[in-house]
Amino acid sequence: MERTLVLLKPDAIQRDLVGDIISRLEHKGLKLVGLKMMRLSSALLDEHYSHLVGKDFFPEVKSFMQLTPVIACCWQGTDCVNTVRALCGITKAREAAPGTIRGEFAMSVQANLIHCSDSLETAEVEVKRFFKAEELFEYEDILERYIYSSR
Ligand code: UDP
Repeated sequence: MERTLVLLKPDAIQRDLVGDIISRLEHKGLKLVGLKMMRLSSALLDEHYSHLVGKDFFPEVKSFMQLTPVIACCWQGTDCVNTVRALCGITKAREAAPGTIRGEFAMSVQANLIHCSDSLETAEVEVKRFFKAEELFEYEDILERYIYSSR
């Protein structure tokens, strides 16, 4: 079963959207298997956003991500990497599709509420980056047979 990493960014915390965003992922039928609040170090951000190191806006992204702690979650489900990506919406939030988290709740490129892994390979690396094995949980989801009826 696929797993993906989601970070609720400082704007989600300041704007009291944590519950709404988690509810959307829960209501979609995804299974929460890890959840914690954490402050992101400079080194962790350099690793996590290594594709942005060197961009002129990267120092601002780093400061933004350190304004408050973030909430890291790990979600599990069939095709969950692409499913969460679709629910999240595109980076430039004001152009994100209506119905997506960014499309419904954000206007900014930088303050776009949520990070989610962009591929299965990235998700595997990112989940390990943010969660120790003992912070991820296996448990029975009693609704699974209804959520994935006929897949
Ligand atoms: N970002 C930014 N300006 C840009 C591009 C990205 O501030 O021009 C920030 C934004 O918060 C984005 C994050 O850097 O979510 C990571 O960028 P990426 O291209 O990986 O987008 P994402 O996968 O988050 O949509």
